[in-house]
Amino acid sequence: MPAPGPAISIRGAVKRYGGITAVAGLDLDVPEGICLGLLGRNGAGKSTTMRLLTAQSRADEGEIEVLGLPVPRRSKRARAMMGVVPQQDNLDEELSARQNLEVFAHIYRVPRAGRRAAVARALALAQLTDRADTPAVKLSGGMRRRLLIARGLVHSPRLVLLDEPTVGLDPQVRQELWSLIARLRDEGVTTLMSTHYIEEAERLADDCALMARGRVVARGSPEKLIAEHAGAEVHEHYGTADRLAEIERIAREAGVPTRRTGPSISLLKAEQFDDALRARLPVPPIRRPANLEDVFVLLTGESAD
Ligand code: ATP
Repeated sequence: MPAPGPAISIRGAVKRYGGITAVAGLDLDVPEGICLGLLGRNGAGKSTTMRLLTAQSRADEGEIEVLGLPVPRRSKRARAMMGVVPQQDNLDEELSARQNLEVFAHIYRVPRAGRRAAVARALALAQLTDRADTPAVKLSGGMRRRLLIARGLVHSPRLVLLDEPTVGLDPQVRQELWSLIARLRDEGVTTLMSTHYIEEAERLADDCALMARGRVVARGSPEKLIAEHAGAEVHEHYGTADRLAEIERIAREAGVPTRRTGPSISLLKAEQFDDALRARLPVPPIRRPANLEDVFVLLTGESAD
């Protein structure tokens, strides 16, 4: 029976580790059936949020509901309906792909009569049917990652938490995983995916929540976030450090948002420039469409910590 409310509801969650506030009054709703991309810099609080949802950590304050169930009070019941795919590969090396899935089918109490079919379905979803009997230790990095995702899906969860699903993988393997994640959404599974890869969020997420300092600082579809914060067009200027600083100053005086892009400076919302501003800026700039990375850098800061 579908939960009446959103798949995930977090209200005012706070999690402190000693003097560090990892999650600082977080509000987050994830409607059923969407893929939500959780974006943020290192240390923004994404993993802590995931741990609060699985009750691996307890919030100091706030209310958390997963599939209509209060967490941590009813986390066991919630966990039975949710799949968790960790960032760290913790497959059992000695066991075959099939056996790894069978162990989890057992842990997640897939009824005995349906276990074989559940494992076969998860193998097929991860395109590992022909490697079912290969020990995990002999699978490639990409196959292992697909198996890890399949393991989180073996009990047909309604909600899947994916923590950095494609970190450290080559472009081809990432694309295979993207197809797999997209298939999940097509099947109506709600997905919460933390990622550092902006392109991943742009391609897969219906909605993105941008986290900074333990809170959501912006929320919406990639298109909405881009239009709202970066506009349609970006003008990039190259030059000496002094020149870039001057362009940055002119833009800021005119109220134009800017971001550094390595050796260049990017001026956002360029389609809104008036003639007076255009006259003060060097020409020609390199023109390009605004993207989600512009929004990310604008809202979460330019410098490395
Ligand atoms: P990353 O992208 O690097 O994984 P993140 O957004 O997932 O980062 P968290 O891992 O949630 O961020 O960390 C948020 C903050 O809480 C950081 O300052 C981190 O050092 C701190 N933190 C997280 N877990 C613990 C812990 N068990 N003990 C102490 N501090 C912690």
